Amino acid sequence: MKAFTNPVGPGTLWFHNLTTADGTPVAYDPQARAFLPMPPFCANRDIIGCNWIAPEQGAFCRSCAMTALAPDPELPNAIPNWAETEAAKRWVLDNLGRWHWFRPEDPGTRPTFHMLADGHQLAAMGHGGGIVTISVSEADPVVRETRREALSEPYRTMIGHMRHEIAHMLWWRLSLREDFLLAFREMFGDERADYTAALRQHYEQGPSQDWELFHLTSYASSHPHEDWAETAAHLLHLVDITDSFVAAGMTSPEMPRYNWDPYSEPDTHALLHVAATLATRINHVNRSMGLPDLYPFVLSEATRRKLVFVHGWLRRGAQGL
Ligand SMILES: [Zn+2]
Ligand SMILES: [Zn+2]
Repeated sequence: MKAFTNPVGPGTLWFHNLTTADGTPVAYDPQARAFLPMPPFCANRDIIGCNWIAPEQGAFCRSCAMTALAPDPELPNAIPNWAETEAAKRWVLDNLGRWHWFRPEDPGTRPTFHMLADGHQLAAMGHGGGIVTISVSEADPVVRETRREALSEPYRTMIGHMRHEIAHMLWWRLSLREDFLLAFREMFGDERADYTAALRQHYEQGPSQDWELFHLTSYASSHPHEDWAETAAHLLHLVDITDSFVAAGMTSPEMPRYNWDPYSEPDTHALLHVAATLATRINHVNRSMGLPDLYPFVLSEATRRKLVFVHGWLRRGAQGL
């Protein structure tokens, strides 16, 4: 993620800022990828702190307009959890916008979001027919950490959920192309395999012993659809770690050149080399504060090949699909 110029004074603005350091209200224009000092602000600004601009006074921004269902505000912490979930969504939508997904120049279907809070029953995350369902309850760190431990996952965040579930939606968009489907099945296997049975087997019997050779996570080994979603989420993690590193003004010997833009890099292997090296180094930095690793994963040869495949299709992006 880029760091932004303050439109009314000195200093830098960060993606989630609602005001400048001296308190001037600002809003983010997702089309220009820049902050503006004037309304119209998103109609959700006061309720969930959305900092995007709206097309007109009283309207939702481009991101909030994709949310068809908001959580029941009577449920505990539903509004602050929803706010955090929408912030993760805006971040990921902006990332995908670098490859033109869901921007005005993208002629295809946009995702519709159902943001649900756990009530009498748990809100199951998933994607179906363009609808992405997210449990905002997982924005609660205790809920999320409990589930992370129960599932033995090394990493679980709202931005990770958002990338994973939107990746299913992107697969659905790409699957409208015959050439994508044929290439996908060659790389990931046949997604027509019984999904319910595959997931049941994954949870009852666990992954195969050598899953790490072929998959980024054990969950990715459960079914080709999950392998795609996990791989695409990781591609987005790795590109964005690298982009944020550059935007923060940091550098390392692996950087190809000054002002390098990771989202514009066509060579996936070169990009992954930089991203993996940076991740290892930032893991080391995090340990100095006793924090978990930034990126607690290893890229095998097979997972690199899948990341190359995903990168090629996502970079070609929305145009013409
Ligand atoms: Zn908004
Ligand atoms: Zn999934």
